[in-house]
Amino acid sequence: MTDRKLDQEQYENLKKICNNAGIKLTHQRLEIFKEATKTRDHPSAEIIYNRLRKKLPTIAIDTVYRTLATYDELGVVKTLHLMGERAVFDANLDKHHHFVCTRCKKIEDVYWPDFDSTKLPDEFKNLGLIQSRHLELHGLCPHCIQETAK
Ligand SMILES: [Zn+2]
Ligand SMILES: [Zn+2]
Repeated sequence: MTDRKLDQEQYENLKKICNNAGIKLTHQRLEIFKEATKTRDHPSAEIIYNRLRKKLPTIAIDTVYRTLATYDELGVVKTLHLMGERAVFDANLDKHHHFVCTRCKKIEDVYWPDFDSTKLPDEFKNLGLIQSRHLELHGLCPHCIQETAK
């Protein structure tokens, strides 16, 4: 897992998207974006808020919630509603799926192009219109396997 720095291009892109949507990219909003996208560890709004508070003591958790919801609408950060978990935010906009460790709650990105391109069973048509598919794998991460074996 590598930290990604917010490069100039990413910033310009965000500014353009916000401009087009008539949203002012305030200092706080920019910092929320940076915090939400700098790691791939799928932070919750609370975690993002707690990390930002050190730098921005006046930030309100409502601002964090609202800004992240806006970013989700704009498609720059994705909101994930994993089963049994609070909403978490995903900076990885590539098509991918998730492995969730049921013990430590760590969320890892997984890629499975074959799954993405497999034709859906015909009877799925009865469900209605399927617009996306997301796979959620549950289990124990290597660390937790070791911990539980002790
Ligand atoms: Zn684990
Ligand atoms: Zn992800």
